[in-house]
Amino acid sequence: MWAGTIPRHRILYYSPTDMSDSPIASPSDAPPAPAEPVGARVEARPLLGPDEPAPFEGFNPDGAAPLLLVCDHATRLLARRLGTLGLSEAELARHIAWDIGIAEVTRGLARRLDAPAVLSRFSRLAIDPNRALDDPTLIPQLSDGVVIPGNRDLSPGDIQARIESFHRPYHEAIKRTLDALAARGPAPAMVSMHSFTPVIKGVERPWHLGILWDADPRLARPLMARLRALGVPVGDNQPYTARDGHGYTLFEHAAPRGLAHVLIEIRQDLIDTHHGAVAWTDRLADSLRAVLENAGVFRGARFS
Ligand SMILES: [Zn+2]
Repeated sequence: MWAGTIPRHRILYYSPTDMSDSPIASPSDAPPAPAEPVGARVEARPLLGPDEPAPFEGFNPDGAAPLLLVCDHATRLLARRLGTLGLSEAELARHIAWDIGIAEVTRGLARRLDAPAVLSRFSRLAIDPNRALDDPTLIPQLSDGVVIPGNRDLSPGDIQARIESFHRPYHEAIKRTLDALAARGPAPAMVSMHSFTPVIKGVERPWHLGILWDADPRLARPLMARLRALGVPVGDNQPYTARDGHGYTLFEHAAPRGLAHVLIEIRQDLIDTHHGAVAWTDRLADSLRAVLENAGVFRGARFS
């Protein structure tokens, strides 16, 4: 039962290696997959073998805070049936496959704020869960100048198999978690976690953090104010804007329910080591906790 405040000192599962400078764990070092929630659809995932993990990770599912963290681009994992999509190992390690560093920050925030998190467990090169099903970049054929051979000439059946194997079960997991949070307490808030490259097409990005939002200011405005007071260079709808359809996951799940929501982008070079990820997790946890303690956040509200 949620006691009405976000915990300040509840740090769970931390190991003595947390203060090391070790690089971000590779997918093969990831913790074992938790069991899927009761009632999860496990049939009809044609691209996933029975021994392959579910296409999402439910982290800290019993977290008590009325808050859901989501991470669309948590991993570079590709289902065995997809092979390498015709890309080299070096290309598959790049940001085109995943949001470097953000999974660790998301899990860290979930621990510190005692909130559940849902993370994707498939590369956005297979299908981008932060895109609507009719978005032409749903299954990218080109990303940051890299052609993706395995995504060319896909049949309608191939596309449907990607949707059913990855996109749909991930979004169903988010929906189930929001339903469970809403059933047990106040209207939950929702925070979507991403990371961005420090340079794109030769242009440096000066922000350390981007806060993306559209009509609902409840989390975005106070969060930007707190971070700027700490001296963090914060982009307001930079380096992307939530006002051009960016942020599909939030606008699919949070906005229709009137839930307070925001999308946070962190520059990848700040969180691509374990030490960096922990430092930014701490900073963000403190700021989010303060913003979430505004009781008005945990209420359904419509903005336009
Ligand atoms: Zn992302």
